Amino acid sequence: MDLFEYQGKQYFARFDIPVSPGDVAYTVDEAVAAADAAGYPVVVKAQVQVGGRGKAGGIKLADTADEVRLHAGNILGMDIKGHLVKRVWVEHASDISKEYYASYSLDRAAKKHLLMLSAQGGVEIEAVAESDPDAIVMLHIDPVDGISSEAARDAAVRAKIDDEAVDGVADMLVKLYRCFTEGDCDLAEINPLILRPDGGVHALDAKVSLDNNAAFRHPEWDEFRATEELDEREQLARTHDLQYIGLDGTVGIIANGAGLAMSTLDVVNQVGGTAANFLDIGGGANADMMAAALGVINFDENVKSIFINIFGGITRGEEVAKGIVEAMSRVDLRAPIVIRLDGTNAEEGREILANAGISADKLISKPTMLDAARAAVAIANGSN
Ligand code: GDP
Ligand code: MN
Repeated sequence: MDLFEYQGKQYFARFDIPVSPGDVAYTVDEAVAAADAAGYPVVVKAQVQVGGRGKAGGIKLADTADEVRLHAGNILGMDIKGHLVKRVWVEHASDISKEYYASYSLDRAAKKHLLMLSAQGGVEIEAVAESDPDAIVMLHIDPVDGISSEAARDAAVRAKIDDEAVDGVADMLVKLYRCFTEGDCDLAEINPLILRPDGGVHALDAKVSLDNNAAFRHPEWDEFRATEELDEREQLARTHDLQYIGLDGTVGIIANGAGLAMSTLDVVNQVGGTAANFLDIGGGANADMMAAALGVINFDENVKSIFINIFGGITRGEEVAKGIVEAMSRVDLRAPIVIRLDGTNAEEGREILANAGISADKLISKPTMLDAARAAVAIANGSN
């Protein structure tokens, strides 16, 4: 789950990472009240989950309440790269001497945590990686050992952080690592991490992504969940407890098991198609879940064909078949189904489908995953 900047800063604050005082505002009046409380000058910042807000006009400095009114009025409702600004964060403005970059993420290949640190912050780190890769210090951290103050200091020196900021940055790196691990983040990024003229170091921006698998031990994440911006398809899927991720292709996909679902996406791509979604109906999928899954896929107007890929283990073929028949009697599917049904009770399942009186252009059965992918893609690409 991705957090907004203001939520990320609130999360940082729990781990003693210094941030500027501020408040979130949904209206112009709230923005002025937040500015009065934070103390002028302030910065009014669009809260959208996309970078480059400054360039898009979504970040403005204000010296007076009237300026806050003007800027908040302009920014609220603004469209930034397809994201509607519903709220702004208003914080006390900082004087900036230097802008640095710091982040922790997981390097899956190395099976370690990865610190990235650079004295060239404030711009997108991808741009730095391109123009001056040596300016980014990468440090792998063994999750068992963590990062010591000495290692953090050493990284700061190697990254050519200014002398007067080294201690502050090292302290920040230790705190940010605690936030990343104890806070169960997939990503904790500060860009820019600033050095102020008074020698202090603090986080001017926050990009935090939380690991949903750890949600069970974080009841406090519920407040973040409330503002999470899912697309309509994802919201519908969540009400049915489906593991669904919306994509922008044309082949709707239903599979049982995350591994098979991912392979299905790969095969669809391999034969020239694009997936409209990832959907894992899980190990013990029954008729109701299949019907719910088809409902969610059918909601997506881009879907031109539906590829159901089931290899039954715990999932039973006849349950899957009943779900499809049930769903087709309830909703008028906008796209034909191509199904590959194999494994436990696949024979019974195929029989149910064959005898359900569904016309052959609405439900096509194929013996293998590759055949089914080809058929689904041919329909979606309009070349059948
Ligand atoms: P992003 O562009 O969406 O990543 O938004 P940031 O929060 O990183 O802000 C972008 C830029 O706005 C920063 O790199 C700063 O240069 C500037 N900025 C943000 N907050 C302040 C502030 O309090 N004071 C000053 N002087 N500039 C700020
Ligand atoms: Mn930023």
